[in-house]
Amino acid sequence: MTSSRRSAPTPPPSGAAGVPRRAVATVCLSGTLEDKLAAAAAAGFDGIELFENDLVVAPWSPAEVRARCADLGLAIELYQPFRDFEAVPADLLRANLDRAERKFDVLAELGADTLLVCSSVAPAALDDDALAVDQLGLLADRAAARGIRIAYEALAWGRHVSTWDHAWRIVARADHPALGLCLDSFHVLSREVDPAGIAGITPGKIFFLQLADAPRLRMDVLQWSRHHRLFPGQGAFDLAGFVGLVLSAGYAGPLSLEVFNDVFRQSDPARTAVDAMRSLVHLEDGLHPTDRPEDRRQRRLPVAPGLTGHSFTEFAVDGRSGPVLQDVLRGLGFTHTGQHRSKPVQLWEQGGCRVVLNSAVTRPQASGTAAISAFALTTTDPHRAVDRAGALHAPVLPRRRGPGEAELAAVAAPDGTSVFFAEPDDGWRADFLPTGNEVGAGAGLVATDHLGLTQPFDHFDEAGLFYRSVLGLRQLGTEEYAAPFGLMRSRGFTDPGRAVRLALTVAVLRRGEWAPSVADPQHVAFGTDDIFGTAAALDRLGTGTLRISDNYYADLVARFGLAEETVRRLRRYGILYDRDPRGGELLHLYTPVYGGRIFFEVLHRRGGYDGFGDANAPVRMAAHRYRRLAEV
Ligand code: MG
Ligand code: MG
Repeated sequence: MTSSRRSAPTPPPSGAAGVPRRAVATVCLSGTLEDKLAAAAAAGFDGIELFENDLVVAPWSPAEVRARCADLGLAIELYQPFRDFEAVPADLLRANLDRAERKFDVLAELGADTLLVCSSVAPAALDDDALAVDQLGLLADRAAARGIRIAYEALAWGRHVSTWDHAWRIVARADHPALGLCLDSFHVLSREVDPAGIAGITPGKIFFLQLADAPRLRMDVLQWSRHHRLFPGQGAFDLAGFVGLVLSAGYAGPLSLEVFNDVFRQSDPARTAVDAMRSLVHLEDGLHPTDRPEDRRQRRLPVAPGLTGHSFTEFAVDGRSGPVLQDVLRGLGFTHTGQHRSKPVQLWEQGGCRVVLNSAVTRPQASGTAAISAFALTTTDPHRAVDRAGALHAPVLPRRRGPGEAELAAVAAPDGTSVFFAEPDDGWRADFLPTGNEVGAGAGLVATDHLGLTQPFDHFDEAGLFYRSVLGLRQLGTEEYAAPFGLMRSRGFTDPGRAVRLALTVAVLRRGEWAPSVADPQHVAFGTDDIFGTAAALDRLGTGTLRISDNYYADLVARFGLAEETVRRLRRYGILYDRDPRGGELLHLYTPVYGGRIFFEVLHRRGGYDGFGDANAPVRMAAHRYRRLAEV
């Protein structure tokens, strides 16, 4: 099941009739202006917002930037920011107008026609709307004489103007054709002012629309904005609802991303630009959510196909890690049932759990290690799944077919894992010749419950949006916990029917030199309907599961008031316990780490427990650490 990348199908076209132009602010991307423009163009953007800082440090003149953008097919949709202009005493006004004229010169040379003016944060600014109206009107007169428009934006931390409706009152009173609003979803949605009134803004008066998502954080709004903005679909804001309001006010300009994010600022700009484009394509699709014919006509993405389960998980192994994982699987009650027709690939099964050990994957990893190289999901329509993935700029992988081999459609996830789409009839199993091995009693494992995948630090939010948009998964909660080697963030994803679950984790801060010896662990969790029966079976099979500290069980008694006998049984098998507020329970145990970064989990969900037992993750991580120290 080895694959190599080819280019994705053409994305839905923007700029055509009825499809908004797509733009990205240069501040979203890492690198020099040259890097940023190349990345934006390669990802298919129609235009950019040019940040003054990026121009000031560039070796190119504004005319050269204009020529470079034209070569790349990028329009300069906006130049920004122009700060601290309005509602000032007369002598400052003269200086501010002179300053504006210098910027109009720059816009003229750039061939840009819209300047963003953000609401003043200067101590000199007066709390005087009439003065702001007069002075912005003067600025608009000067701009109009140069063929330039002023887009006035309320910063959420503006000194006197900090809400969209206040900025709109000023723009409406000025009533100048060259003065309009810039609406920024962060500034609007981070405040408690109801955005519904945006739909009533006079058509033509919204000059520019900036989009950013963000997680809900209780912190200073300036810090929130500067460090934690995300692309649409990666945070907690209702971007589709917001854009719907702006479009219903007649806005026909670009949808432009303006995302200040500490991680994106230091990540590969080519990757970030694709992530950004995916967020816009997904957002546009979400503008037409209903099944009414007029909505369906507007949607350009194939509908996410239904997922019915985890089909198999594939590990890339080598001559050392392969036999180790074979022993582990045997110890978990699996049977080696199939051998691939043409490749050194084994199929191991138990109940509905399937694991593939692949010695033919060429993937850079250290000798003796194993890694999850692929996972397959069962879906009602694999081809539609791949069409949707391609339209969302996911790298679609070609499948090399041998005689008698089934075709499996696949895409590459942001961490390089291949995601296969399997037909419900399990046609791929025909790739494997039966080994004739007698299937044993097993250990009561029923099906794959979830995969736990540590993500590369730079690509955690990208991965979340990838799985949400490409697979149509829903985001469950985000948990943060203090692990032995630092704070971890964990985010769960599942389909509406709870057939497929993924748990993505990442270190909250980039790792330094003091780091765990297992840097990026991965695990597969198998479900059982009888955790104690399974634990006893594993015992009989001689499987050493992870030992858990007695202190943990003493704490369980205190936290949950469990019966002594129950706790005694949990402790005996190293079973961890969690309970949700509705009374749902999770009982789960783990194996040690094998092949450098792989471990397995066995879990039993009771009473609708929907999480991943994140409260127990630090316990498991510390137990893994103690086990490694004991092995040395
Ligand atoms: Mg903005
Ligand atoms: Mg887990």
